[in-house]
Amino acid sequence: MFAKILYPTDFSDVAVKALDYIKRLKDSGLREVVVLHVIDLRGMDSVRRLLGEGEFETLKKNKKEETEKLLNGVTQELAEAGLKVKLRVETGIPVREILRVEKEENVSALVIGSHGMSNLQEILLGSVSEKVTRKSKNPVLLIKR
Ligand code: ATP
Ligand code: MN
Repeated sequence: MFAKILYPTDFSDVAVKALDYIKRLKDSGLREVVVLHVIDLRGMDSVRRLLGEGEFETLKKNKKEETEKLLNGVTQELAEAGLKVKLRVETGIPVREILRVEKEENVSALVIGSHGMSNLQEILLGSVSEKVTRKSKNPVLLIKR
């Protein structure tokens, strides 16, 4: 039923935990995983002003390299489990990009963490998972922390 899914990740503990469930979905017919990371530029203007242009460029470069390393790790793990992987890196507002890629890639389900990098103890759901779950037309498998 879920041959192609979208897996948005911010590389947080909860998002990484989702990988175990994705691998197990292979037994239910999963073949392809679209792995999506959204580079969140919100709040970056103030960082840019604080650091200055030179240091900001270095920060961006380091961030890009780190992201590539993390994405390679995810790809390897899923490929070793026998799944086809498609990587997508987008820049913008996470919720908007996740919903856009969901349509563009024509997936039949999403696997997302209940929380992400903030992971505040008293918060029921992260803002990204809350909005994506509410707005997506597809079934969403919400992985708990
Ligand atoms: P908040 O961001 O509202 O402070 P949070 O960081 O704890 O809270 P979310 O950001 O909603 O929680 O993260 C929930 C899940 O959404 C993550 O586990 C991940 O699957 C996905 N996600 C969050 N941010 C991104 C991103 N930038 N790119 C891709 N997926 C993301
Ligand atoms: Mn977050």
